[in-house]
Amino acid sequence: MKLTLVKKEAEVPGVTTFIFQPDTLLGWRAGQFLRYHIPNPSPDERGANRFFTIASSPFEKNIQVTTRFDSEHGSSFKKDLASLNIGEALDAEGPMGGFVVDDVFISEGKKFCFIAGGIGITPFRSMLLDLDQKGLPINVTLLYANRDQNIVFKDEFDKLAQKYPTFKVHYIVDPQKIDEDLIKSSLINPQSSIFYVSGPAPMVKGLEATLEDMGVDEDNIKHDYFPGYSEI
Ligand SMILES: Cc1cc2nc3c(=O)[nH]c(=O)nc-3n(C[C@H](O)[C@H](O)[C@H](O)COP(=O)(O)OP(=O)(O)OC[C@H]3O[C@@H](n4cnc5c(N)ncnc54)[C@H](O)[C@@H]3O)c2cc1C
Repeated sequence: MKLTLVKKEAEVPGVTTFIFQPDTLLGWRAGQFLRYHIPNPSPDERGANRFFTIASSPFEKNIQVTTRFDSEHGSSFKKDLASLNIGEALDAEGPMGGFVVDDVFISEGKKFCFIAGGIGITPFRSMLLDLDQKGLPINVTLLYANRDQNIVFKDEFDKLAQKYPTFKVHYIVDPQKIDEDLIKSSLINPQSSIFYVSGPAPMVKGLEATLEDMGVDEDNIKHDYFPGYSEI
């Protein structure tokens, strides 16, 4: 499918949102991702394709990509993305991925803990706006770790937290980390919660081990690794 760029805006320093209009009526589940291709006759060794979560919610219809740019060591792909003009198109495939909120968990009234590291927040924007739009309960504690106070989507999350007393959001700014103590102090009953963890691979792997050590069943831990980032 072709995605045409219709809007580009800075979120916080170093992070930009791109809004694309698909050339077909595209359905997806909140939390899924696409594979994007920008032709380049001589890309760097990381190539001309990338995966990005669809940060928009299905009711928003357009595809939102929100990504971080590294000013010093950025890839050729990110340079090509940054220089895309409004009205220009790229190719994409999908949607794909199973990092989605299971309807069964919702109907069973489960409590969720979403854990995000940095730009790993993108699937949670899609999921939370989707639950809100469908009028479903948001029994969610969001633990969102970031490198600094420039927190992507903060206004949207704060608005949701005001609307839903059952939605709790905790911003954890470096050097503070998400660890066992923080999880225990943020959740009433971690062992019965359903965890979704998204962010740089080393952080996600570390937190999965922490959760299992805390006695959380591995079936109740879902993850999304973002390769290419060593830290939040
Ligand atoms: C399912 C899925 C969903 C994703 N969703 C998102 C999303 O919503 N938003 C998002 O931003 N990313 C997302 N990613 C990650 C994305 O695909 C890229 O891997 C990431 O954005 C890094 O982009 P880049 O490789 O172009 O590197 P850049 O962003 O240009 O650079 C990132 C860092 O990589 C370092 N680096 C440079 N070269 C190399 C190298 N050869 N090997 C390793 N590191 C190197 C640089 O020093 C820099 O610090 C997702 C990945 C997956 C698999």
